[in-house]
Amino acid sequence: MYALNATHSRDLVSWVESANQPDTDFPIQNLPYCVFQTPDNPASIGIGIGDQILNLRACGEAGLLSPDFASASQQSTLNQLMALPPAQQSQLRARIVELLSEGSPEADKIASVALVSQTNVDFLMPCNIGDYSDFYASVYHATNVGSMFRPDNPLLPNYKHIPIGYHGRASSIVVSGTPVRRPVGQLTPAEPGAAPTRDACKLFDYELEVGCLVGQGNQLGESVSIDDAESHMFGLTLLNDWSARDIQKWEYQPLGPFLAKSFASTISPWVVTMEALAPFRCPEFQRDAEDPRPLDYLASDSNSQFGGIDLQLEVFLLTEQMQQQGLEPQLLTRGSFTNLYWTFAQMLTHHSSNGCNLRPGDMLGSGTVSGLTRDSRGCMLELTWDGDQQNALPGSQRTPIELPTGEKRKFLADGDSVIFRGFCETSDHRRIGFGICMGQVLPATQST
Ligand code: MN
Repeated sequence: MYALNATHSRDLVSWVESANQPDTDFPIQNLPYCVFQTPDNPASIGIGIGDQILNLRACGEAGLLSPDFASASQQSTLNQLMALPPAQQSQLRARIVELLSEGSPEADKIASVALVSQTNVDFLMPCNIGDYSDFYASVYHATNVGSMFRPDNPLLPNYKHIPIGYHGRASSIVVSGTPVRRPVGQLTPAEPGAAPTRDACKLFDYELEVGCLVGQGNQLGESVSIDDAESHMFGLTLLNDWSARDIQKWEYQPLGPFLAKSFASTISPWVVTMEALAPFRCPEFQRDAEDPRPLDYLASDSNSQFGGIDLQLEVFLLTEQMQQQGLEPQLLTRGSFTNLYWTFAQMLTHHSSNGCNLRPGDMLGSGTVSGLTRDSRGCMLELTWDGDQQNALPGSQRTPIELPTGEKRKFLADGDSVIFRGFCETSDHRRIGFGICMGQVLPATQST
C-alpha cells in the first residue's frame, strides 16, 4: 500500500492557478490520469490539474520525463503505464509534482507546449478494459435488493463469506458523456404464468459504483495474496453500471445477469491513482460481532486497518425539462464507500484465488454503493422502494422522486441525464475529487 509522502503535503501549491482553488477536484495533490484528444493533439495521456490537462506525451517529447517513461508516456491508452510497478508509478507522480509546483523552472515551457484546457478536449476511454467483473460488495444494497427478489431470504448464506461477483461485459463500457440507449428485451410477464413481452425496458436504472482498474497483472495459474493485492491496483474511477430491471428480473435465474447489464456501463474519464488516495485510507467495514470472520486468504491486519477508502459519492439527475428551464441537476443520493462489506483488496484477491489472471486495465466494479439510510441508496430500484412490501417488482408501491419541474420519477425517463461525483476530504489533507461520470438516456430503437 502506498505510504504518505511529500506529494500529499497540504502545503503544495501549483503554478497552474486553478489547481489552488479550494473547490477544485484536481489540486496538485490529486493528479488523476485521463486520455484525451484535440484537433491539434492525437490521443494522448493527460493528467488533470485544476481546469487544465498536462499532456504527458508532450512532456515526454520535450525531454521532461526520465527515460523509464519514454514509451509509456507516448501511448494512447494507460495500459502500458498501468503495468509498471508501484515504485515507478511513485517516481512519475513525484516528477509531475515537481513540474507543476510553484517555482518549477519548467513552468514556462510546459505552459507553452504541454498544457491544454479541459473545456476544449474530447475525452476517450482511459485504457483498454480487457475484462470487467462486477461485485456486490455493499451489504445494504444486497439486503435491500434481496428483500425485493426474495423477501423470505434477503441475504443468501454465502454473502458474508465470499465477495460475490459475476463476469460483466467489457466491450460496451463507454466514457462519460456518451449517450446510452434504452435497451429492448424480454420483459417480466405482467402476471405469473403469462408469456413475457418484448419491448423497450420500462424500469431503466443506474447503479452508483466505483471501478477499480488493475495495474500489474498476475500470471495465469498464480494467485495474488491479500497483502499483495494493493500493489495490483492502479486506481479508481466512477462507474455507472446501468441496469434494465424488468429484463433483469426475467432473465437472471439461474445463471445471473446478462442482457439487462451488458448494453452499457459508463466510466468517468479520470482515474484517481491509489497513491493519490493514500491519505484517505481507513479501516475496513465494521462487521457485526456475530458475523463470520473472513477465511484466512481474505484477511490481513493491513487490510483490516487500511483496506477501506473514505470516499464520498453523489448522484444527480437532470431531466430534459430541467435543462430547458436552466435548472441545476438535483441531488438524489449521497453515499459513502466506507459502507462496503468487502474491500477492493479482498475482491481482487478472491478474483485471482483460483489462478485467474488479471491484466493491466481490467476493471473490478464494487457493486452498487448503498448505505443504511434511504438517501444513501445507490440506485432507483432502492431509492423509490418503500421497503415494507413483499414484492416490489415490477413498479408498484414506490414513492416517486419529485423534481423541481413537477416531474416525477420511479425509474429513468428518456432524456434524463445521470451524473455521478465523488470526492475525498479530511481535515489534514487537501480535498481531491473524481470529476464527473455522466450519461444521458436515449429512447429505445424499436425492432421486432
Ligand atoms: Mn453492478
